[in-house]
Amino acid sequence: MAASFFFRPFNSAAALSDFSGRHEMKDEGSGDAGRDGNRGPPAPIRQNAEGEYRNTDGHHRVTALRKVTALTGEDRVTGVTTTDGRTFPADLVVVGVGIIPNSELAQEAGIACDRGIVVDDCSRTSDPAVVAAGDCTARRMPDGALLRLESVQNAIEQGKSAAAALLDRARPFVAAPWFWSDQYDVRLQMAGLSAGHDRIVVRGAPETRKFSVFYFRDDQLIAVDSINRAPDHIAARKLLDAGRSPSFAQAGDEAFGLAGLLK
Ligand SMILES: Cc1cc2nc3c(=O)[nH]c(=O)nc-3n(C[C@H](O)[C@H](O)[C@H](O)COP(=O)(O)OP(=O)(O)OC[C@H]3O[C@@H](n4cnc5c(N)ncnc54)[C@H](O)[C@@H]3O)c2cc1C
Repeated sequence: MAASFFFRPFNSAAALSDFSGRHEMKDEGSGDAGRDGNRGPPAPIRQNAEGEYRNTDGHHRVTALRKVTALTGEDRVTGVTTTDGRTFPADLVVVGVGIIPNSELAQEAGIACDRGIVVDDCSRTSDPAVVAAGDCTARRMPDGALLRLESVQNAIEQGKSAAAALLDRARPFVAAPWFWSDQYDVRLQMAGLSAGHDRIVVRGAPETRKFSVFYFRDDQLIAVDSINRAPDHIAARKLLDAGRSPSFAQAGDEAFGLAGLLK
C-alpha cells in the first residue's frame, strides 16, 4: 500500500511526496505490485518536480520527498519528519493511503478478480455478460501479466471497449498508456510504461524546464516522460502506437525530427 502525504508548511503552500498515476502488476499472483513511483522518477524529472512554482495566487513551494516517518505535534500537527531526519513545519497534512479497487460486487458475483476485476483488452470479464472499465480493473496483457493503470485515458478507452463488447463488437484497447499531471507551471506528460527500461536519454535541457526523458529497453523505445514539451509527448504516443523507435542517439538529438519517423 502506498501513501502520499501532502502537507501545507506554515506561510507557504503545499508539498508532495509522490506523483505518478501508474500502477503495474509485474508478477501475477505474487503480490509484488511494482509501481514506477516506488522506484522514483529519474533525477531530471524528480528535480523538476521540486522548486518554486508560480500560479495566479503567487509563489508555491513544491518539494518531492521520499518517505514520511513521523508526524509531530500534541493536539494538532506541527511538523512532518522524513527519512533523511528533516522535520518540516506543517499545520495541515493530507494523507492519501493506497488504492484498493472496489471489486467486492464482482467478487460476490463470482467474477475473476486479482487486485482488480480481471479484464481482457476488450474490457470483458470472466463472465460473458459483464464488462468492467477503469481503476477497478486489472487488464490481462499479451504476456499474461496483469496491468493496473489508474488514469483518465485508461478509464475512457476501457469504457469504449466495454460499450463495444456489450454490442458484441471487439474494440481492443491497445494504445500506449498515457498520463498527464499539471503541477503549477510544470506539465508532466507520460507515454508508455517505463518499468524495465535499461537506458534513458534526455532530450532538451532540464534546467530550462522543457525536456523529455526517453526510456529504452533492448534499444527499443518503451516510454517517454515530458516536462513542458507537449510536441515530444504527442510524437512519443504516435511512435509507441506505431511500434516505431528512434535510435538512442536520435532520441537525444534535438535536431532530429521525431515526426519524420512516422512518415
Ligand atoms: C488526486 C487524484 C489526482 C489524479 N490526477 C490524475 C491526472 O492528473 N491524470 C489522470 O489521467 N488521472 C488522474 N487521476 C486518476 C483518475 O482520476 C482516475 O484514473 C479516473 O478517475 C478513474 O475513473 P473511473 O471511472 O475508473 O473511477 P472513478 O472516477 O473513481 O469512478 C468510480 C465511481 O464508482 C463509484 N462506485 C464505487 N463502488 C461502487 C459501487 N459498489 N456501486 C456504485 N458505485 C460505486 C465511486 O463512488 C465513483 O464515483 C487522479 C486521481 C486522483 C485521486
